[in-house]
Amino acid sequence: MTASNILQAQFDNSYYRDLEGCYVAWQGVVAPKPEVIRINHQLADELGFNIKALTDDQSAEIFSGSKILEGSVPIAQVYAGHQFGGFTPILGDGRALLLGEVLDRDGMRRDIQLKGSGRTPFSRQGDGKAAIGPVLREYLISEAMYALGVPTTRSLAAVTTGEKVLRESQLPGAILTRVASSHLRVGTFEFFAAREDIEKVRLLADYSISRHYPDVSGQSDQYLLFLSEVLDAQAKLVAKWMAIGFIHGVMNTDNTTISGETIDYGPCAFMDQYDPASVFSSIDLQGRYAYQNQPTMAIWNITRLAEALLPLFDDNQEKGVEKATAVLESFSEKYYEYWLQNMRSKLGLVTERKEDMELVKGLLKSLEGQHIDFTNLFIGLSKAAEGDQTSLLSLFDDAETIAQWLALWRHRLDAEEVPMQTRLGIMARANPRYIPRNHKVEEALDAATYEQNFEPFKKLLAILESPFEAHADSEEFENPAPESKIPYRTFCGT
Ligand code: AMP
Ligand code: MG
Repeated sequence: MTASNILQAQFDNSYYRDLEGCYVAWQGVVAPKPEVIRINHQLADELGFNIKALTDDQSAEIFSGSKILEGSVPIAQVYAGHQFGGFTPILGDGRALLLGEVLDRDGMRRDIQLKGSGRTPFSRQGDGKAAIGPVLREYLISEAMYALGVPTTRSLAAVTTGEKVLRESQLPGAILTRVASSHLRVGTFEFFAAREDIEKVRLLADYSISRHYPDVSGQSDQYLLFLSEVLDAQAKLVAKWMAIGFIHGVMNTDNTTISGETIDYGPCAFMDQYDPASVFSSIDLQGRYAYQNQPTMAIWNITRLAEALLPLFDDNQEKGVEKATAVLESFSEKYYEYWLQNMRSKLGLVTERKEDMELVKGLLKSLEGQHIDFTNLFIGLSKAAEGDQTSLLSLFDDAETIAQWLALWRHRLDAEEVPMQTRLGIMARANPRYIPRNHKVEEALDAATYEQNFEPFKKLLAILESPFEAHADSEEFENPAPESKIPYRTFCGT
């Protein structure tokens, strides 16, 4: 029996079938000695893949791209993108291959993509490969985001290739298998808009609507409604990022999905000490993608989508601009509504009141300059809601700064008739105990890269897979980094 039959992957490749001209058919290079690091069995089950029937060698062959599965037609997708504000007319999958799409157990269409599988026509100067560090980093953080309830691409498998890739030094090569509800990006639209290929833009929009937003299909102004849906999905997404302190690091339009999933975990990091200006990426010299700028950058990216779609809004360009502007102007209100919903849950609030925005802003204001760990602050508040303020107060150099705010919060809580258990349950589900702490992520990646020791990676992953529950003997994962590891820097290791 061939490996492809054992996996029982049922491909149905709509992107390949319906979007000719938006990709090139391509094949990965054969990895010399692929070995499995990790397979995500829960996700494999969701996809209907029978991984358990495979030997490790068969899995390694499949997830390194060495074996082409029955029904898979590998393609490299083309896209453009605004990177740090500047437009690059052609980017495309330079180190990725879409193996195809499968319908999962819920009937949802999911892309299966290899990342690090070799050069493609879009590789430019790159080698098309990936080093083990960035592969495991994306695996860890995407799965952490999923467990945190944030829309995200998923990680199905990580394998080593058995060859070295040249970065600052020779590093073990690896390949990630990524699963996404699609890889349609704002940059996909920009590629064809920049070439004034309006029919391709329309084709892509129709495809995106039927794949992601079928409810708007056939309505008058369906393309405006489509824009509005993408805007809504991005507003919701970034509001979640902000609530957990996630900083994407490269919010370029080629990394902005139409589905509203987080994609491309490069120099991303979680904010430890609360500081709205936090930037971790070494390449983000101007702080364009700093924590506090993320909502602004999201609407900036959606505005680029609106520009690409403009000819579809109205035959009269001026009218088209007017209509699009009205949609774009809705972002701020939507974003703040989503953000406030998240923050209310973090504070244990069940009802909605006008003054809640002030309450949340007051809390954040009281943190300024205090070097308070953002994650542990909310764990402290959960404990304070139960009646024990000690750990909360111990976070502050000067407890007076929070005392006044605590009184306001208690007053607000008392104004709701909510059983304590309900409130604590809401807080427990909104405030993670564990985030991918930057120093723990680095420890895990270093052990894998330099010692071929995957235990720290697996241990960290196990914790991040259930971030809201207390794990035994895992205090080191709750604690912030020692001072010696701050400030933390991420590098766009590709
Ligand atoms: P990213 O910064 O990961 O969003 O990637 C930006 C662009 O660079 C995309 O077109 C990637 O496919 C391409 N790229 C990144 N790393 C490599 C590599 N090692 N080889 C070829 N292309 C790459
Ligand atoms: Mg990218």
